[in-house]
Amino acid sequence: MRSDVLYFCVLNSYDRTTGVHNREWLPLCFLNCISILRRNGIEGRLINESEISDLPVGSSIVVTTGSIDRWFAPSIRVDALYRFCERYCGRHRVFLSGIHATLFPDVLLEKTHAAGIIRGMPEAAIESFCKTGVLAGDFRSSSPDLSTFPVPAFDQVNAGHFAFRAMGWERFGVFEFSRGCKESCDFCAKTCFYGDTDTCKTPEGMLRELKIAVEEHGFRTGYFMDICFLNHRSAVERLCELLAASKLDFTWACETRLKDLDDEILDLLHAAGCRMIGFGVDELNATSDLVEKIEKRGIKTLAYYIVSGLFASPTPADQRVFEMMWSVDSTFANPRRFLDLKNHAWLAEEIIKDVPYRQDELDLRIRREILRFHLAPRRLFRILKGLGIANTVRAARSFGNLLLRR
Ligand code: SF4
Repeated sequence: MRSDVLYFCVLNSYDRTTGVHNREWLPLCFLNCISILRRNGIEGRLINESEISDLPVGSSIVVTTGSIDRWFAPSIRVDALYRFCERYCGRHRVFLSGIHATLFPDVLLEKTHAAGIIRGMPEAAIESFCKTGVLAGDFRSSSPDLSTFPVPAFDQVNAGHFAFRAMGWERFGVFEFSRGCKESCDFCAKTCFYGDTDTCKTPEGMLRELKIAVEEHGFRTGYFMDICFLNHRSAVERLCELLAASKLDFTWACETRLKDLDDEILDLLHAAGCRMIGFGVDELNATSDLVEKIEKRGIKTLAYYIVSGLFASPTPADQRVFEMMWSVDSTFANPRRFLDLKNHAWLAEEIIKDVPYRQDELDLRIRREILRFHLAPRRLFRILKGLGIANTVRAARSFGNLLLRR
């Protein structure tokens, strides 16, 4: 391995002794970065942690602190990052990117002795690095134009290593059509990471990218990680028309606001291969009518709920969330611990100082509620309906793992 290459490493991705790939979602932002480097004649490479021992001393390695960009509810578990830095910061130049690095640069620098912090979108940092040779910096106010991004460097990953187990999907990729959201929910930390970015690829460019992913790199399924897929509705409509006409062998999922979904767009999404839609639910938009309408078309639903990130025991609000899961009645439900990072970042800073993360009573309650919800016979039937035999076996395996591990 060469020292003039910029390396990107995802934490805990591959265990050399067991040959197990732990990470099921590919690091799209790093594949974007590697493509941008290539366009500028610089080599970038995605590596596993197990390959670091082969690098020359003093290599530059960028790591991200979250598995994917979590715009409003990032995980507060950073112990894997601390362990990584303890091992490698003395030997290499480690740069931290991601939501934690963006929000808590001082705490992370102090805890990890990293060479530098990349705040905001890593692609902006790489564009700047290509011009100045300097990697660390604050890029929160940069506003990248997604339509100018090269196709992500899919050659850096093996499609067969990634999966979306709940749907039984294999050869699973992560894609991004747009970045930004026109809403401004007061708790949402999207601006902390994305600033006021509101950008979208062209439908034709997105189709080209999907064709490359499917036909040249073997992806068959995918998830649009856009924080709000329907933010640019007319572009999505065009993309759906192009996808439906292309007959590409590609099934996918996306996330958007419930209120953006109507009959017309649902028909277009389904015709284009969309088979799962995720959305956030709170007391104001908790509705099972729309869920029924979506599922009637053969699209499964994944409802996200916010549970306290601060208290160790369930609060009355958390209790209401657990009840809401049953009344909304989506195919899947994902109650997630949430810290109001935008308004109370200091709280999270206090918490991430405290390692390692320990499961508390609320974690255990969430796990119980998730199992109870998904293992109800009626729900199991809905989850498995329409998946086909191979996907059903994979999904069943994933629920078995959930029972044993989660
Ligand atoms: S709709 Fe979602 S992404 Fe948009 S501001 Fe609200 S919470 Fe954030």
